[in-house]
Amino acid sequence: MIFAGNFKTNHTRQSTALYIKELTQKTKAKKEEDRIILFPPLTAIDDYESDFTIGVQNAYHIQNGAYTGEIGLEQLDEFGIKTILIGHSERREHLGESQELLTQKFNFFKEEAFEIIYCIGEPLEVRKKGFEAVMKYLLAQFDGIDIAYDKLIIAYEPIWAIGTGRSATVEEISSTHRALKNVIKETALLYGGSAKLSNIKEILSIAGVDGVLVGSASLDADGFSKMVLA
Ligand code: PEP
Repeated sequence: MIFAGNFKTNHTRQSTALYIKELTQKTKAKKEEDRIILFPPLTAIDDYESDFTIGVQNAYHIQNGAYTGEIGLEQLDEFGIKTILIGHSERREHLGESQELLTQKFNFFKEEAFEIIYCIGEPLEVRKKGFEAVMKYLLAQFDGIDIAYDKLIIAYEPIWAIGTGRSATVEEISSTHRALKNVIKETALLYGGSAKLSNIKEILSIAGVDGVLVGSASLDADGFSKMVLA
């Protein structure tokens, strides 16, 4: 199983270092095949001593150049970063990242052989329209994306479940993952949206769920370690 933690705009360099130490200690008993990927904020990217994969929540699709406020490949290379999150709904919504821009990012980092966690998810008004509308919406988020890329992981994150405390139901996750797996085949598929200690076992037992992308519940190392061990 894959346990990915997205810190968003939380934690500092100092608290991330302490977090990684604590999580390392507390996940010693995890199954060998289980994998932990952490996405700290950019200021906390460093060469940490741990078995976890450290990825970035965002980067610009450029080696270097005049892109004020962004970082490019040169800055990621300095820390050996080879994993990136692309398409998170918060970047699509709040930062206005279009499908066209996401495609450019995807293609650039694919060319650079990055592991890409590509997020898709529907808003509540689409979910309310029914399953067909949901699938149509989700599949449109694959436009321009090479879903056969061998270093790709997809995260299905219904927007209405992100940060709300209300996860999708087992039936919603199950039917959506089944339909997505028909399209993406062997590509790993994570669920994201209010995954936490109280629902992690149930979520991970659903067919077609290969792990979780966790926001709020990943912020505390002790709590996240319990999810990994659950
Ligand atoms: C996320 O933002 O990717 C996420 C899943 O957040 P949360 O776990 O807080 O719903």
